Amino acid sequence: MTEKVQAAVRIAAGTTEMREFDLPEIDTDSALLKVEVAGICGTDVKMYSSPPAMISGPVIMGHENVGVIAHAGDRFKERHGLAEGDRVFVEHYVGCFNCEWCRIGEYRHCEATDWRTNPDSRRYGYTSADNPGRLWGGFSEYMYLPWNAVLHRVPETITAELAGLVTPLSNGIEWALRAAGVGYSDTVLIQGPGQQGLSQVVACKQAGASMIIVTGTTRDKVRLDLARELGADHVIDILQEDPLEKVLDLTAGRGVDFVLDCTSRAGTAPVLLGVDALKRREGTLLIQGELAAFPDFPVKKLTEKAITIKSARGHSYRACELALEQLASGRFPLERLATHRYGIDQVDHAIRVLAGETDEDAIHISLMPELIGRPGGAVA
Ligand SMILES: [Zn+2]
Ligand SMILES: [Zn+2]
Repeated sequence: MTEKVQAAVRIAAGTTEMREFDLPEIDTDSALLKVEVAGICGTDVKMYSSPPAMISGPVIMGHENVGVIAHAGDRFKERHGLAEGDRVFVEHYVGCFNCEWCRIGEYRHCEATDWRTNPDSRRYGYTSADNPGRLWGGFSEYMYLPWNAVLHRVPETITAELAGLVTPLSNGIEWALRAAGVGYSDTVLIQGPGQQGLSQVVACKQAGASMIIVTGTTRDKVRLDLARELGADHVIDILQEDPLEKVLDLTAGRGVDFVLDCTSRAGTAPVLLGVDALKRREGTLLIQGELAAFPDFPVKKLTEKAITIKSARGHSYRACELALEQLASGRFPLERLATHRYGIDQVDHAIRVLAGETDEDAIHISLMPELIGRPGGAVA
């Protein structure tokens, strides 16, 4: 095993530097993960360009991580039922397993892993490398695993790159099925054909939705085609067609049962369309926007239509397990989402690609330590 670890460290807003760390010391309760794949998502785009003031110090980003247990203490192995050499997906939450949320399995709400309210929280991809253990993110050759890391064994039939899709897919399952409640024979409008929107298509299809409509823009052509391949019944280019008219047309004037907003940086428009596109009474709108304010929010329409709003907040243990099962089943061509690969020395570029700042059109990007020093780009 190497003595030194290479990691990409965010040292300031929009600035990454490769740094060398010592291998952390592993006691009987902890372990070391050899990182194979760290996925990136829209959150990385935000956290990279404007890191929250709550988080100080250098940060190894990377919160969607897959790798192999390289070295583990005895009690760690016993506690997790894992051995060295096992491939795992590591959740980014690191809960206390003692509080009201942890006790009911909702450790994603635990204060110990909430960087928004707790400056001393632990969360992969968010926690500063100044903390003990140091390697708190996936853009690194190795990652530190304390006793309370949450791990999922990856089935042997799934590659590390495919397992990198667990996060978007588990969010799809969590948000569409558990939070919003999409089920058998429901009609669904999914706004935005990125990795998140496409994952919701698969979750809704698997759950039995009778009609799935996906919106995007003209530059999303390839993604909208992929949405169809993954099970969408209709796609709408909102720059070419009036999306509300089209949804009402497709549902014989009724509107849809569910609207799932998977857009990014689209302002208030997706929510306003969602409110109008929902059926006359008791539709559900899933939102994940981070708009600080919403001028002229149509509260009246909302109450008159008896709309329920649910917010999208990460994923549960069960959703991750279901995502792994879904990936292992091979029922949907989910590998088509994994479009790009880069070494962790190209984090800066990869995040800009995902942000749409380059000409490359990436859906899901895998950052791989093994590609350090090699050219990255589209998966051949
Ligand atoms: Zn993410
Ligand atoms: Zn807790």
